Amino acid sequence: MNELDTPTFRLAVAQFDRAAEAMNLDKNLRERLKLPQRSLVVSLPVRMDDGRVEVFTGYRVQHDSSRGPSKGGIRYHPDVNLGEVAALAMWMTWKCALADLPYGGAKGGVKVSPKRLSRAELQRLTRRYAAEIFPLIGPEKDVPAPDVGTDAQVMAWIMDTYSQQVGYAVPGVVTGKPLSIGGSLGREEATGRGVVYITLEALRHLKIDVRNTTVAIQGFGNVGSHTALIMRECGARVIAVSDVTGGLYNPAGLNIPELLRRYKTGGEPLKDTKLGDAITNEELLQLDCTVLVPAALSEQITTRNAAQLRCRVLVEGANGPTTLEADQILADKGVFILPDVLANSGGVIVSYFEWVQDVQRFFWKAKDIQERLQEIQSSAFHRTLQFATTQKTSMRMAALMSGIDKVAQAHLQRGLYP
Ligand code: NAD
Repeated sequence: MNELDTPTFRLAVAQFDRAAEAMNLDKNLRERLKLPQRSLVVSLPVRMDDGRVEVFTGYRVQHDSSRGPSKGGIRYHPDVNLGEVAALAMWMTWKCALADLPYGGAKGGVKVSPKRLSRAELQRLTRRYAAEIFPLIGPEKDVPAPDVGTDAQVMAWIMDTYSQQVGYAVPGVVTGKPLSIGGSLGREEATGRGVVYITLEALRHLKIDVRNTTVAIQGFGNVGSHTALIMRECGARVIAVSDVTGGLYNPAGLNIPELLRRYKTGGEPLKDTKLGDAITNEELLQLDCTVLVPAALSEQITTRNAAQLRCRVLVEGANGPTTLEADQILADKGVFILPDVLANSGGVIVSYFEWVQDVQRFFWKAKDIQERLQEIQSSAFHRTLQFATTQKTSMRMAALMSGIDKVAQAHLQRGLYP
């Protein structure tokens, strides 16, 4: 499909093709799973504060719903396009299956720079987007969550818009909501916490003491900042972090709580905090460190820079940060890669907990959430590692093949309609 043909979609399909070939996946199923099940493109006229009407483009793509409602975040970013959203939706399908969640994969997005909008404009845009994708979403159909550029407040507006349409409160229509309307304890930091659990499993496997570990993190938003904070709590030294404006480096270890306090309250650019030396995003990726965590956007590690990377472990907090060619270069260098579908699944796992709590109207303690998250991720890590070892393949291929296999079983057992 031409309209999907973008670098991120090509990456998702190339990964899928490679895994499908290795597992000798049914040819008909291969054709189907390469494409999304449903794609919706919407035009969103929004009244701006100065009285003008600006029209934005939004998307919601459901890649697969054979195993349950589809699940996936909503991204607000100026580069969002149909191909990127479709790729992210496909990765969600494999991620949910790998973690054994009863979900398929979806993703949404609006082509917008959210920082450019006032709070009132952002609310009107979000409500119009929610109204336009209303026919596709619902607790039993498709359940959005936050992603780049969206947060708990955006989810609250979507929940309210949906609830207004049906006439009663429907908390289970989105996850990542505020606690006051059915959000879950631990969801805010879930992806970062999950990244840390998976990293700790990998360090144990590689016999590296976390206290001798240095960590560099690209992206200091939801995923990056919580990863930094929790890795530090576990005894690692976080030597560099960055955002879209650039990074900060301190070989003695950055004071992450202090950095976050200034970053959140004063909104100071990272480098103005003077808590470390200013570095570029490119320099951050090439730092000598034990663990590198890309936690920003896709295609950051490519043939251009892969050979220069000096980490021992690459933990993909972001979705699709490494191209297929870069993957090979890193494997040849002996870098241990924890692929996105395994490493950043903490967010969707706790989203699943949130949805279960909403549907049952029964809420859990923070301790239960952390323990269950750790249990699911630890089990996914060990299953993937065992699969990779016995099949003599990479952790990425092992994770993808396990996820794809579960989805394939569901399709083959349900049969082809009509
Ligand atoms: P976010 O909007 O909270 O943060 C994104 C961060 O990336 C910000 O610090 C931003 O400044 C930085 N950034 C943006 N463009 C950049 C660039 N060109 N170079 C360097 N840094 C840049 O988003 P998030 O929710 O933390 O998501 C980050 C990544 O993690 C995305 O790939 C997302 O799909 C993935 N992810 C998020 C979740 C979640 O629960 N939020 C779950 C799984 C995966």
